[in-house]
Amino acid sequence: MDGRVSRRQCLARCLALAGGTLVAGAAPAHAAFANAGARLQPAGRRHRIDSVLGPIAPDRLGLTLMHEHVLVDFIGAGQVSASRYDADAVFTRALPHLQQLRTRGGATLVECTPAYLGRDPRLLRRLAAASGLNILTNTGYYGANQDKHLPPHAFTETAEQLAARWVREWEHGIDDSGIKPAFVKIGVDPGPLSAVDAKLVRAAALTHKATGLPIAAHGGSGVAAFEELDMVEGMGMPLHAFIWVHAHAEKDGSLHVRAAKRGAWVEFDGLSDRSLDAHVALVSRMKEAGLLDRVLVSHDAGWYHVGEPDGGQFRPFDTLFTKFVPALKAGGWPDADVRRLLVDNPRRALTGIVDKLY
Ligand SMILES: [Zn+2]
Repeated sequence: MDGRVSRRQCLARCLALAGGTLVAGAAPAHAAFANAGARLQPAGRRHRIDSVLGPIAPDRLGLTLMHEHVLVDFIGAGQVSASRYDADAVFTRALPHLQQLRTRGGATLVECTPAYLGRDPRLLRRLAAASGLNILTNTGYYGANQDKHLPPHAFTETAEQLAARWVREWEHGIDDSGIKPAFVKIGVDPGPLSAVDAKLVRAAALTHKATGLPIAAHGGSGVAAFEELDMVEGMGMPLHAFIWVHAHAEKDGSLHVRAAKRGAWVEFDGLSDRSLDAHVALVSRMKEAGLLDRVLVSHDAGWYHVGEPDGGQFRPFDTLFTKFVPALKAGGWPDADVRRLLVDNPRRALTGIVDKLY
C-alpha cells in the first residue's frame, strides 16, 4: 500500500466522521483526521462552520444561498462607516426578506459584503436570531471597482501582513464582536490582475492555508479567474477551496468547464427572473459535462443600499424557489441533482470536503 492509497482510505474514513457525527465546535473525533487532512485543510478546523450566531455543524447548513447581501455601501473606503445608516431601519427592511427565504425552505444565507463595503456582523447576528436563518460573514478585502473600497493599509502592507489581519478575525472575531468569518471574500478587477489585486489573492491563499477557510473571489472575467487559479495553485492551495464568483459574467462557457475540471467552484450567482433561462442553461451545460459537483448558484440579491431613501430597492431572494427549481424539474432534473446543487455543493464548498485527492 503506497502512501497515496493510505491517505485516500484514511481521508474517506475521516470525512465520513466529519459528515456524520461531529457536532458544533467539537474537537477532532479521530486522531487520524489531523494527519490525513493536513495537506488539504488545517487539522481540526473545518469541522465547524462559523455562523454569526456561533459555530454550527456542517450538516445544519441545509439549503444554502452562497452569495447574497443584506447591506452594501458603495461610498468608498474613505467614508464608509456604520454611522451612515440606522441599523434598526436596515433590520426592519431586511428581516421580511430573510423570513420569506426561511419560509421557502432556505436554511443558510452567505452574506458576501466585505469590510469597507458595509460588512456589519452585529446587524447580521440580530437578523439571524430574528429570522431563524444561519448567516455567514467573511474576512478579506474588495479590490474590484478600481480599488475604491480598499483601505490605505491594503496598499502599504505586505500580503503576509494582510493575511495576518484576516487570520486574526478568524481566531478572535471581527473587531470586538466575537463573530468569526466563515470564508475569505476578495474582489479583483476584470482582466489581468493589478499589483494590489494580486496581493489580495496572495493574502487570501495565505489565509486559507492558515485557517482552511474557502476563498470566494469576485472577478467575473475568465482572464482574472485563471490568473487567480494559477496563483493560488502555485502557492500549494487546492482549488476545491476556491470559488470563482460571478462566473456567469464570463461568456465563454468553455472556461467554466476548464475551471471546474481543475477542481475550482464555478458560481453562477446572478440568478434573477430575467436571467432564468441563461442560468438554467449554464447549470445544465455543466451537468451534461459531468461537472455538476463543481457548481454553485445564488442570486447576488438584496440589499439595503446605504445612501438611498429607505435603502432603495431590495431585491428578494426568491427566484431560485419560485422559478429556477421548478424550471430544473420541468427539464427532467431528478431531486437528487437539485439537492446536490443547493445543499450538498454549498456544504462541500464551505467545509473544504473533497471528492478526490490532489
Ligand atoms: Zn455580490
